[in-house]
This record gives sequence, C-alpha cells and structure tokens, in this order.
Amino acid sequence: MQFYNTYSRQLEAFTPLNPPAVKMYTCGPTVYNHAHIGNFRAYIFEDLLQRQLEARGHKVERVMNLTDVDDKTIRGCRQAGMPLVEFTKQFKQAFFEDLNVLRIKPAAHFPAATEPQYISKMITMIAQLEKAEIAYQADDKSVYFRLGKFPDYGRLAHLNLDELRPSGRVHNDEYEKESVGDFALWKAWDEADGDVAWDSPWGRGRPGWHIECSAMATALLGDEIDIHCGGVDNIFPHHEAEIAQSECCTGKKFVRYWMHCAHLMVEGQKMSKSLGNFYTLRDILAKGWTGREIRYALISVNYRLPLNFTFGGLAAARSALQRIDEWVGRIAECGTRKAEVSKPSFDSASEQSNEGFFTALDDDLNISGALGQLFETIRETNRALDNGELAPAAARALIDWWNRVNAVLGFEPDSVETPAEVLALAEQRKTARASKDWAGSDRIRDEIAALGWQVKDTKDGQKLTKLSV
Ligand code: AMP
Ligand code: ZN
Repeated sequence: MQFYNTYSRQLEAFTPLNPPAVKMYTCGPTVYNHAHIGNFRAYIFEDLLQRQLEARGHKVERVMNLTDVDDKTIRGCRQAGMPLVEFTKQFKQAFFEDLNVLRIKPAAHFPAATEPQYISKMITMIAQLEKAEIAYQADDKSVYFRLGKFPDYGRLAHLNLDELRPSGRVHNDEYEKESVGDFALWKAWDEADGDVAWDSPWGRGRPGWHIECSAMATALLGDEIDIHCGGVDNIFPHHEAEIAQSECCTGKKFVRYWMHCAHLMVEGQKMSKSLGNFYTLRDILAKGWTGREIRYALISVNYRLPLNFTFGGLAAARSALQRIDEWVGRIAECGTRKAEVSKPSFDSASEQSNEGFFTALDDDLNISGALGQLFETIRETNRALDNGELAPAAARALIDWWNRVNAVLGFEPDSVETPAEVLALAEQRKTARASKDWAGSDRIRDEIAALGWQVKDTKDGQKLTKLSV
C-alpha cells in the first residue's frame, strides 16, 4: 500500500512500526454542536482507510478523541446556561448516533479530554516541558510553548522557516500562519471560563486544545503512532503543535504517516460552522435521504480532492446504490439455481480472486478507481445474466467477492423490520410448499411482492428482502 504523507508531500510505501498492528489517531469532533457533514467527510475517509487496512490483514487500533473542553465548548455552555459536562453530553450522544447512521466503525477508544487521567497526563507533559525550559509561565499566568526550542516547527505545514519569525504569544487555540508565536499549553482561569477549571502547578486553569490531543494520543497509543489523520484545516496550527509537544516530551518521532482529507465545499467555500453554510447529518436525513446514501456521496470522491456538496450528488448516490442492490439481488438469485449454464462466460475461481478493487484502494485510497472496477464487474455480469451465461457457481463466487468488497465500502442495505402481514404470508407459503402446493406458493409469493417484499428460497429456508423503490 502507499499513501500520500503530508509531512514529506510524497507518496510513500506503507510499513507500520509493528505489523500487523497499526496505531491510528484521528482528531474527533468538538462537541459544542452537532457535527456537520463536512466533519463526517473526514471521519468517513478515516473509516475507509481503516477498513482497507483491515482488508489487507492489518490490526487497526484507532483512537478518536472528543474535544469536550476548549474555547467553543465553554462559550456554548455559558450561553446555554448549563454545566459544561451536561452541555457536551448531549452532543457526544448525538455524535455516536450519527456515526452509526453513517456506518462508521466505532474507534477502539473514544477518549474525552476532561477525563481525569488525560487532564493529569496533560499536566505531566506540560511540567516536563517546563522542566526542560521548553515551556514557561508568562505574566498572564498561562503556560506557553517556547517556539524557538523546536526548530522543526512548521515542517508539517511546509512553512518557510526563514520567513517565519515567531513573535509574541498566541492565547487562542486557532491562529493564522501570519501570527505564529508561542502557543498556549495551559490557560489560566479567567472570568469567561465560569466554573470550568482544574488545579495545576500553575494555578487553576484549563488545557489548550493542542496538548489535549498529544496527551490522549500518547496515553493510549504510546510515543510512536503509525497514522495520524484529520482534515487539512488541522495541519496548522493543531497538528504542528501536537508534533512539537509530543516530540519534545518523548524524544521520538511522533507520527510516521500524516494523512489529511480535503474539505467538503459548498459553492466554492469550506463547509463550516463559522461560515454558517453547513448541513448537519440530521438536516439531510430530514429531507428524506438515508445515511447510506450520504455515506456513498461522501466516500465516492478521492479524499485529497475537494468535494462539492450538492443534492444532485446525493441523487447520483441513490441511483448507484439501487444499481448495486439490483445486481446483488440478481446474482444472489442466480446463485441459488441448480442448473448449470451451457456456455458460462465467467470462471468462478477468477471471480473470487478479482483484486482490482483492492489494488486501486492500495494506491492512496483511490476510491474512484475502485468503484470503477465494481461497476465494470456489475456491467459484465449483468450482461452475462441477460444472456444466460452466468453459472450458479460463478454467481456464488461473485457474492463472496461482493462481501469482501462491501466490508470496505459499508453499503449494505438498511435492515428493515419485516411487517407482521408479510411474515404471516411467508408462514402460509411455507405450509403450502411443505404440502407441494406450488401454485399456492406462487400465488402467495405474488401477494408478498404486492406488499413490496421479495421472498427467496434458500437452503436455510425462505428469505425476505424489501424491494427497493
Ligand atoms: P472540528 O470539530 O472543527 O475540530 O473538526 C473535526 C474534524 O472535521 C477535523 O478533522 C476537521 O479537519 C474536519 N473538518 C472540518 N470541516 C471540514 C470540511 N468542510 N470538510 C472536511 N473535513 C472537515
Ligand atoms: Zn486533535
């Protein structure tokens, strides 16, 4: 496999430190609001990466943190008149629901910054930096990272270090490249923080956003991580600061591969909460689109290319999924047939070992190439089915192949509850078949179809599936 590493700006062959283990850290949501679908583009790209690594035999241990204390969450809880914990809890819960709707595999760990063990790890790291004179407490009582002590600062973002003249200090978590300076590790309490504060060797205060990720990443995954992901907006200053803090504490290379996805755009601008041009997942579900369709639309453009969000894109996702569903239904049905075909056009062994889909993804997650392979297979096998040239054994091999492909894509239809009426008819049909009443069985099958369901006879008995509309 090869991935584009933001650090080197090159495609690099992927070799984890301790194969088959892959340690992966992904910056998660700031839980002051519902995540928008731009955020979910990043999480779906990371999900695709994890699933493809797993398809290739790696054992991925993924961490996704929850930023539950920072400038934005504090502002939000004060406006809502709620304690911080209560305020962020509702968005954490909603976030987990959204991940499920989008079929994003849960991370192995979802640490939240305010958990006591991470706060104490942050304090330990800052104390260590202070001892090495890399951090210092300023007159405003906050603790800052002394940029001059880390000459590599700016390498990830490819800033011209000679032009970078650090001056002054920056207290805010997010700052522009032009105003780079010593950044805050620990922020002394001020009135705007209300009752959000922890005791520390520097007095009461709270952590800066960047140290949160360094502490959670190293606490859970150790000093050296294989892959660290996020959206491109995380590169500077957040990931730059994470490298500086972590490497100054551990003396080791923090991350081997940095991978960043391009933004989800709306009319040429980044979808973001601050621009107000965003949709939450819930907004789009309320318009009648499904999580599966949204997943398709967000996954189907290569992660390093900007993706323009449109409802036309969702409609295209819907018809692509219908095409897949119809094809899966056809090959499944063909696989149950007994009779062989006279001139088969597919060899079942080669169907099963069809690797084009996976080798496309090995190349820096080239999803458009991979989907191209899938639709090519669909086109060819549909043609063979039309001509009566697909042998049941080849169809079964295709189903096995599809199951492997879908373990990476996550496009399976939503499971729908079967209505009682349909279940009752299926029971009657079973009785009819047991007494060899084939005409009755066919009539009941039509009645089931009229209710929008398809019944198939498999070796494990009848299978009901909802017909897509
Ligand atoms: P935030 O909650 O703003 O810290 O963002 C959480 C994650 O979503 C980060 O990895 C961001 O880089 C990513 N992100 C934010 N906006 C977008 C967008 N419009 N497109 C893709 N990723 C985004
Ligand atoms: Zn982070």
